[in-house]
Amino acid sequence: MRPTRGVLPSYVAVPMVVVLVGIAAALPTLASMAKTRPLLALASGIAWLGIIVLVIRLLNRAPAARGACRCVSPPLDYRDYERRDIGIDDSHGRFATVAIERCCFCGQNWLVYQYELEHHSRSGRWYRAPVTYGEAAEATAGGALATMASAGWYLYGGSYFDSTGKRSDQPLDPAHV
Ligand SMILES: [Zn+2]
Repeated sequence: MRPTRGVLPSYVAVPMVVVLVGIAAALPTLASMAKTRPLLALASGIAWLGIIVLVIRLLNRAPAARGACRCVSPPLDYRDYERRDIGIDDSHGRFATVAIERCCFCGQNWLVYQYELEHHSRSGRWYRAPVTYGEAAEATAGGALATMASAGWYLYGGSYFDSTGKRSDQPLDPAHV
């Protein structure tokens, strides 16, 4: 089943719910405790906040980064993605197409960088790295490779690599794409 398009991805919405539930669960207990044992209530409050922050940090990692979805396992299907073109990166005469592709199954945003050299057969290549919600919103064509390098790992393929897609666990090197 495909999730409705346009809603917040689950890795943003779920932490928001966790915060609300966490606060709602802790408030009555802390309020009654504060009358009799204020210091203990304060310590419990701080501990509770710590737990909430920890859970958010775990949940806020995008699903694909946790390795769950088909979008991390090539070969990929373009129909699985909602694509938004960012622009063209013309540095080094590559004229690479840069886009954000959001997985329709898990909501993961992928920053996609692809180009081929004219008059060179088998020069087509693509790279795609998982990016956060914020990185996807702020992505630019010129800054794409740097953003992808910070992801830590990426997928790549194309006729140049004679591959329908492989995974690299090394960060992307912007000087060698
Ligand atoms: Zn996915």
